[in-house]
Amino acid sequence: MTAEVWRTRHRFLVETPLGVGAEPRLDALAHQLGAVLRLKPSDPIVLINGDGCEYLAQLTEIGARRAAARVLDLRHTAADPRIDLTLYMATLKQDKFEWVLQKATELGVARITPVVSQRSVVRPAAAMASKRARWLAIVREATEQCGRTRPPLLADAIEAHKVSLPAGVHGFLAWEAAESDAPSLGAAVAAVADSIGAGQPLALLVGPEGGLTAEEVQRFSADGWQVVSLGKRILRAETAAIAAVAVIMERCGELA
Ligand code: SAH
Repeated sequence: MTAEVWRTRHRFLVETPLGVGAEPRLDALAHQLGAVLRLKPSDPIVLINGDGCEYLAQLTEIGARRAAARVLDLRHTAADPRIDLTLYMATLKQDKFEWVLQKATELGVARITPVVSQRSVVRPAAAMASKRARWLAIVREATEQCGRTRPPLLADAIEAHKVSLPAGVHGFLAWEAAESDAPSLGAAVAAVADSIGAGQPLALLVGPEGGLTAEEVQRFSADGWQVVSLGKRILRAETAAIAAVAVIMERCGELA
C-alpha cells in the first residue's frame, strides 16, 4: 500500500476491534458510503476505533444496507491529546453550543460536560437528553475529520449546583468579573505545568451567555475551582470556551 492511499479523507469511527486482516461489517455506514459518498468496492477508507491507531481498509462490499471492508494496514497516530482536559460548558443556544462541541473536539478535549446554570437560556438538564444523539454525531464527525482516534466523552448534562470538581483534578473557572489580581488562564496553567506534565487531569468551566451568578462563582470557588481571567474584554461564551481551550492546549504543548 502506498502512502498515497493513506491520504483518503474518508475516515470512519467504528466500535469494533480492528487489526490487519480483520473484515469488519460496516452495515451502519452503508448509506453514507454508497449513496452519499458514492464509494465502490476496492475503494480505500480509514477506520478508527479509539485505540490510538488508524486502519487502512479496502471496501469489499457496498449495498443499500450492507457494507464491509478488509483491513490492509495500520499505523499509530499522534493526534490523540496527551492531556486530560474536561470542558464543563454552560448550555448555549443550539447552534452556539454545537459549534463549541465541534471546535473543542478538534482542539483535543477529552470530555465535555454540559452544565445548566442559573442564567442558562436552555434548561432543564432533563430536556438535554433529547439532544444527545445529535451532539454525539457532531463530536463523532469532528473526531473523524481532525485525525484523533478517540472522540471526547460526552457526559449527561448536569445542574451547576451539582457540579463537583473530582479529587485530583485542577479546575479553572473563567470569570469575566474576577478580581484584578486573579491570574490569567495562561499564567494559571503555567503555574501547575509540572503537575500537568506528571499527568494531572484538568477541568475548565465556562459560563452561559448571561454569565455565572456571583453565588455560583462563590460555590465553585469553595469547591476548589481556581478563578481565572481571559483578559479585559468580555468574550461571548462560545468565544471564551474556544479561546480558553486553545490557551490550555498551547501551554501544554498540544498545538505544537
Ligand atoms: N453576561 C456577562 C458575560 C458573560 S460571558 C456580561 O454580559 O457581563 C460568558 C462566559 O464567558 C462567562 O461566564 C465566562 O465564563 C466567560 N468569559 C467571557 N469573558 C471572559 C473574560 N474576560 N475572562 C474570563 N471569563 C470570561
